[in-house]
Amino acid sequence: MKYTEMNQEQLQRELQELQEEYAEIQTQKLKLDMSRGKPEASQADLSLEMLQGFSKREDLFSEEGLDCANYGVLDGLPEAKRFVADVMDCDPKQVSIWENSSLMIMYSLISMGYIKGVLGEEPWCRQEGLKFLCPVPGYDRHFAITEHFGFEMISIPMNENGPDMDLVEQYVRDPAVKGIWCVPLYSNPGGVCYSDETVRRMASLKPAAPDFRIYWDNAYCVHHLYPDHPAVLLDILKECRKNGNENMVYELFSTSKITIAGAGMAALITSEENLADIRKQASVMTVGFEKLNQLRHVRFLKDKKTLEAHMAKHAAILRPKFEAVLDTLEKELGGLGIACWTKPRGGYFISLDTLEGCARRVVELCREAGVVLTPAGSTYPYKRDPKDTNIRIAPTYPSPENLMKACRVLTVCVRLASVEKLLK
Ligand code: PLP
Repeated sequence: MKYTEMNQEQLQRELQELQEEYAEIQTQKLKLDMSRGKPEASQADLSLEMLQGFSKREDLFSEEGLDCANYGVLDGLPEAKRFVADVMDCDPKQVSIWENSSLMIMYSLISMGYIKGVLGEEPWCRQEGLKFLCPVPGYDRHFAITEHFGFEMISIPMNENGPDMDLVEQYVRDPAVKGIWCVPLYSNPGGVCYSDETVRRMASLKPAAPDFRIYWDNAYCVHHLYPDHPAVLLDILKECRKNGNENMVYELFSTSKITIAGAGMAALITSEENLADIRKQASVMTVGFEKLNQLRHVRFLKDKKTLEAHMAKHAAILRPKFEAVLDTLEKELGGLGIACWTKPRGGYFISLDTLEGCARRVVELCREAGVVLTPAGSTYPYKRDPKDTNIRIAPTYPSPENLMKACRVLTVCVRLASVEKLLK
């Protein structure tokens, strides 16, 4: 029976049972964590071979004979650029390889815009009232960057095709709007894949600000959970070019969740004109980014086909975890009318929506029962979820056994918080 259809007496009875169940869980002194989208150890093990590549001097040379154990080459070995271009279906000239983190590239891009300006425009530090579009629910670390630089963040609701494009088109008419965060495939946390129409509309935006950029964070571009994935994302760079908007997009690629999280290889893909400008600033920052990591990545992952075979191994580890969480949610919460959740076909998250005003309480109850979740509100700018409904579930890191325990605790807490709310 739906909780929303229960009378006070039935709800009181349910409350009592749930409180007993919750008290029993607390006696177990659990210590479980479903808070961050980290790969589990066995996923890193899939790439251990990659770490064994440098045992003699000859191993240190690039294809062109460059000694990679020394200075030189600012932003990427030719073979590393070719590899990224193969995976992302672009020209190697559009690729710039940085270090281990795409987030660091995004931070640097915003920082460069702030300090020096984007492609000759007035630096943002000298402009007033900066704004940034933030599709919600979204990635907390994106929002942290734009908050750090003092942007006013404007929430744009996501639907099953991506961000609400009517709103985006409306907002970009304001010259103070300087960018939008996008995770176009298996978005964090909603698992949404942008439709062709969304990509086309995004690529044909006519922003009033010449220094407006789309931050196209393609973090999950090859992270399918199922072999029959229908997710083919329209190529934003090509669409932008068709519209004469070649400079409008920065696309990000990272192997953090392909090889080794924290020791991956991250790349920026954008127009040659943007890259020339960015390179000038990067050359002040560093003599050259790390090349040995690029070498071992290219030797290990080789090409798109080899990469896809490697990703299938990740999927084999992750798929049962996602399915276990989804089965538990369905079994414990299905039909109660108190929660809905996404059923992603890839990426790293499941997004759960509770009754209004319950998410914080659920996270608190979970914490007090020994299960750490991402704090409620994190998926919104300023960590403020206006309806207090969204919870990001990260099923990847815990062992299958711990995941099942954590998920059961979560469902008890969702039920308990819902009954508490309905009784108020
Ligand atoms: N972008 C998104 C959407 C993510 O979810 C994450 C990690 O969870 C990152 C970027 C971080 O990537 P990197 O390790 O390359 O900095």
